[in-house]
Amino acid sequence: MSEASDSSATQGHRARKRFGQNFLNDEAIIAQLLAAISPRSGDHVVEIGPGLGALSKPLGESLRDSGKLTLVEIDRDLTAKLGNWVAGNPHIQLQQADALAFDFTALASGSHRLRVVGNLPYNISTPLLFHLLEQQQHFAAQQGDHALLFSDMHFMLQQEVVDRICAVPGGKQYGRLSVTLQYYAAVERLFSVPSSAFSPRPAVESAILRIAPYAIPPCKANDEALLSRLVTAAFAQRRKTLRNTLKTFCSAEQLQALSIAPGDRAETLQVADFVKIANAVQASQQ
Ligand code: SAM
Repeated sequence: MSEASDSSATQGHRARKRFGQNFLNDEAIIAQLLAAISPRSGDHVVEIGPGLGALSKPLGESLRDSGKLTLVEIDRDLTAKLGNWVAGNPHIQLQQADALAFDFTALASGSHRLRVVGNLPYNISTPLLFHLLEQQQHFAAQQGDHALLFSDMHFMLQQEVVDRICAVPGGKQYGRLSVTLQYYAAVERLFSVPSSAFSPRPAVESAILRIAPYAIPPCKANDEALLSRLVTAAFAQRRKTLRNTLKTFCSAEQLQALSIAPGDRAETLQVADFVKIANAVQASQQ
């Protein structure tokens, strides 16, 4: 079966499933998304996966007088299509690159933070979020502890992924993704986008997520790598109790001393609880 779809609604471009190509074609949704992003004068906006430019063109227009737009697109056919438009707009740079391997820190200049946007291909959305978090950590390590690379990010993602990222403790959707993202950033689900807003139409519904990274997490882990290992272990077998899943990190007595019930499951813990455990484990190892 061909990976390409019908090209009639996509300006002659044959949409590639391999690159998660579902192009936005609903003007009302594009306007709603732009209003949510609200580009301001002097902003440096980085769009991941501009595609045919549905979002890039109005973004480029609003940044024309004072601002910059960097587009990161993997598909050479699409960068070729966008080339002429970009050439007439000196405030726009087009990079043909894989966003998963892209060095976003190279775009930083002075104290000017990047604003990232994208209607992301669903198959790379989680690894891309982790890549962006890593880039932020790399930047903070280079520049000094509290330096922020990104001021905010607005992403269109599969609705189910947005719900998992924004989930609160107590439910099935709350897991490693929720805790990890909520540790590093304030996250907010903005609105749903029906599959009819795209061409070709995806099999799933979408939603818009806003991520605002913290310069300093409100509950800071002394060892973030340890926190990450602990959260992974706690959710690896989510039906098991903390006494079992965390036994290589701490004892039931240690959990009790932190006012955490060893018989509870990971999904009942707040982000602050995971940090409390990680900091106690780290202290006991010193
Ligand atoms: N922004 C456009 C829109 O809203 O109509 C296109 C969105 S489409 C869902 C995803 C876009 O990301 C495509 O243009 C695709 O080629 C691009 N893309 C896929 N994987 C990528 C990657 N690893 N790095 C950069 N761009 C990628």
